[in-house]
This record gives sequence, C-alpha cells and structure tokens, in this order.
Amino acid sequence: MTEKSVSDLLRHARRIVVKVGSSLVTNEGRGLDEAAIGEWCRQMAVLAQGDDTLGLVGRREVIMVSSGAIAEGMKRLGWAKRPQEVNELQAAAAVGQMGLAQMYETKLREQGLRSAQVLLTHADLADRERYLNARSTLLTLLQYKVLPVINENDTVVTDEIKVGDNDTLGALVANLVEADLLVILTDQKGLYTADPRGNPAAEFVEVGRAGDPALERMAGGAGSSIGKGGMLTKILAARRAAGSGASTVIAWGREENALLRLATGERIGTLLAAPTQKTQARKQWMVDHLQLRGALVVDAGAAAKLRGEGKSLLPIGMTQVDGVFSRGDVIAIRDPAGAELGRGLANYSSVEARLLCRKPSSEIRAVLGYSAEPEMVHRDNLVLTR
Ligand code: GLU
Repeated sequence: MTEKSVSDLLRHARRIVVKVGSSLVTNEGRGLDEAAIGEWCRQMAVLAQGDDTLGLVGRREVIMVSSGAIAEGMKRLGWAKRPQEVNELQAAAAVGQMGLAQMYETKLREQGLRSAQVLLTHADLADRERYLNARSTLLTLLQYKVLPVINENDTVVTDEIKVGDNDTLGALVANLVEADLLVILTDQKGLYTADPRGNPAAEFVEVGRAGDPALERMAGGAGSSIGKGGMLTKILAARRAAGSGASTVIAWGREENALLRLATGERIGTLLAAPTQKTQARKQWMVDHLQLRGALVVDAGAAAKLRGEGKSLLPIGMTQVDGVFSRGDVIAIRDPAGAELGRGLANYSSVEARLLCRKPSSEIRAVLGYSAEPEMVHRDNLVLTR
C-alpha cells in the first residue's frame, strides 16, 4: 500500500472500535490505571466530538472494548494469584467490572461524553435474533452519541461457551456494527517478523494484509509461547474483522495521542488492511449464504431497474412473497419467471412484505402502522447474482 492509501484508509475510518487489554488497563494487575484510562477517554471524546483544529473534520463513532474485569477483581479481592476455578474467575469478573464501568463512566463524563455498559456473550453474537438486537442497541447508542464500553459477560459464561479473549470480542463487535477500523491497543508496538526478544533480525511490520497466512507464522503459529493469547490472537482478530471489511491497527497503548494521530492518517503500529471493502464484504457474505429464508418475486419493470440501473427494490415492484423471514434476513429476489436475479437483506418481515406488495412506499406507514425504510431491499444491501 502506498503511504497515501494508508493515510486515506485511517482518515476515512468513521466507525472505530478501540480495544484495550487487561495489562494496560490495570497496569500489569496493579489496579486500574486511572491516568491511562483517562487519556484514552480524552482521545475518544475528541474523536467522537470532532476537532477541526486537529484536522479531525466531522465526528467519528467510537466503541470501546475493554478488558480488565478479572484482573481488577483479583486486586480488589486481594488475590495475588489468578484462580483456576471458574466460579472464582466469575466472581472476580463481577467485582472488577464494577470498577471498570465506574472508571470509564467518570472519565468519559469528564470529557462531556455519555457512556453505556454493554456486556456480551458468545451466544448474543451467534444467535440471529440476539445478534440483531445487540446490533440495533449499539447503533442506537451511537446515534445518541453515547460511547458504548463493552466487555464479555464473564460472570455468566464458562470456558466452553466463551468468546475467550477480548481481541476476538473486538473483532466480533467490529463485524456486528460494520466498523471501518479496529484499533487494538496493547503493551507492544505492533507486529514483528519474529519474536524481537529472541531474534535480533526481527523486523517491524508496518503494513500487512489482514488474513495473510504469513502473518500467522510471524506471530508464532498456534501454540507457540509468544503467540498464546498474544500477537496470534490479534492477527486472527484482524482476519475476522476483515470479514466485514474492517482494517485493524495493532499499536502500543501508551503511545502519545495514538488514537488521534491514527485518525489524522498517521500510521502508528502495524496496520493490517482489509482486502475487501465494507460493502463488497457484505455482498460476498450474501452470495455465500447457503440458506435463504425466503424470496420476493418482482415484476419485469423492477427486474429491469435492479439489473440495469442498480436501484433499490421498492414494495411497488413486488408481486409475490415466499417463505417466512424476519427483518435483516438474507432473501432471494426472483424475476417474473422465477429465476434468482439477486439477493438482499429484507427491511421488512415476510408477513409485512405480503401486505406491502404493489404498494407505493408512501403507503407503508398506513399499511403497517410504522415505516422502517421506503425500500424493501436497499441497493447497498443488494447483490445481483446473475
Ligand atoms: N474479559 C476479560 C476481563 O475483562 C478479559 C479477556 C481478555 O483480556 O482478553 O477480565
């Protein structure tokens, strides 16, 4: 990537997920690092509010994923050693999460920003309906300019059903809200081609392609000592984030003004760029969908508009609705002969869609009692398959 394209990618990132790890948040387990947390909150507030004088035109939407509940809980409970028992870890998380939430709330409020605590579990992200609920809650918070502070709900999950580490959680959140950028703040400067502690020939990686298998080898490969819970999970998180088109930066959490400098286009740490753009990634995901919950049959006029002009599908062009689907499901769009011409995300459920067939969008509210969007499938959420 050229220097300019790196800078453009960083400057244009509007929705940013920032992840900080336990050792940074708790100062290696010594207790919540008030100064460091205050500093990230100050920078996030500038990003969220915009600051023309710093060259930050417009606002960014920022979501924080913070670890540290277990480490802080151990500190508060006076435990020097990390317990083995799940119930003790869960108890520590419950105690520590109070401190974390309180600290973020205080520091963000000092910057004039409202915050919200969101504790997620793997099941919240795996189940379709809960996924959509979590997504819509986070997007609503962003819309109200509230900064969500997320952690895994460690208190109610056991090892088998855990996301497990917050790098992965950060990537899942980036997928959930279709973020542009995931910033993983850590206690290292970024990625090296080999372990710099043991290999003097190790070189710093400034830019890479998220998902490139060579990166996994550099990070040590599965099971190696440096990779375990360290750089490898970050590389894998970058690959996951790239699935929805988000690029990842791995940077040192104590680097001065790291978040602000990144947002003005300065490359700090390692940038792992997503190979596919957000909209392309979403379209690919629809094409790869194996199970479609239903289909819309459209008339010849609508089919021509979708094919030729790249327009959205409006209810007026629909003649028939097949299957049972909910808002947000991937459905097929068929031409009058029944052949699939594309796929898209439904804005209305199958029950609603049946009522909307052949109706102009101006009548949606009268028919349903509310109106979510004027389109049945928005062109951004639509991909032509033939
Ligand atoms: N969720 C855990 C905590 O807050 C940390 C997981 C991680 O550090 O990756 O204590």
